[in-house]
Amino acid sequence: MRDALENAVAEGRCGNRLWLYATYHCNLACVYCLTESRPGIANRRALGREIMVRAATDARDLGFTCLGVTGGEIFMLQDAAETIAELGGILPTVVLTNGTLFTERILTRLEPLAGSVVALQISLDSPEASHNDALRGPENFARVATAVPALLERGIRVRIATTVEDQTEDELSRLCELHRSWGISDDDHLVRSVVRRGRAALEDMGVEPGPMDILPELTLTADGAFLHPFAPTVRHGVTDLDLLVSRQINPLEAAVSRFLRVVADQPVGTDVARNIR
Ligand code: SF4
Repeated sequence: MRDALENAVAEGRCGNRLWLYATYHCNLACVYCLTESRPGIANRRALGREIMVRAATDARDLGFTCLGVTGGEIFMLQDAAETIAELGGILPTVVLTNGTLFTERILTRLEPLAGSVVALQISLDSPEASHNDALRGPENFARVATAVPALLERGIRVRIATTVEDQTEDELSRLCELHRSWGISDDDHLVRSVVRRGRAALEDMGVEPGPMDILPELTLTADGAFLHPFAPTVRHGVTDLDLLVSRQINPLEAAVSRFLRVVADQPVGTDVARNIR
């Protein structure tokens, strides 16, 4: 299994990262949210710390070399800081977060991440508070602009992720100036279009991903294993199953086996354009 995965990664058929959807619950309700996350969501679909840690350990044994944690907002979970530290002790981990829940208490609990292989990837869409907040929610810009320096001061690696819908070139370049002023390099700034799934599709936003636009990366949710992290989206409260790989996520080996069969017909080589990441 390990050899098969490593070969598929080397051939460019899939990525070497395992993604975990920690929860679909969120304190925000962004206009383009792929998962229809929001504060009062009925079905939170939380994976739970034990399942995530076990999946991460299995992933390392099977040849994955890094983890991604997404949602929803992981900091809606009581034990988020400790779960992230535990995952980072298993494999290098990037954690996607909206960056709005970093109270002094949470910041203190995150201090063990200083200098570690964990990066927090915080969403920020515009250097203009009004435009950013129209997309992401009231006070979002101010909270992120407070959180980023506070995390960096504690030695925690921060990346910035920007989702593009109608921002101007000038706006995006001013956003780059802002992240550079915080000491975050261009390599740690991800920019991608809104993907037309979930709430974005209902709002008539974003680009429709083509079949080869997104690199397959095994993605676990409480509903099963999916082809990539843009796959387990939600529309009208129901998880999209068009890109479901396996209902079974435990043991991970079963999901990896199905995943490798699905990616067997992916094009080989590094010149395949993956336009969304
Ligand atoms: S896009 Fe992210 S921060 Fe916004 S509602 Fe969805 S999960 Fe929450």
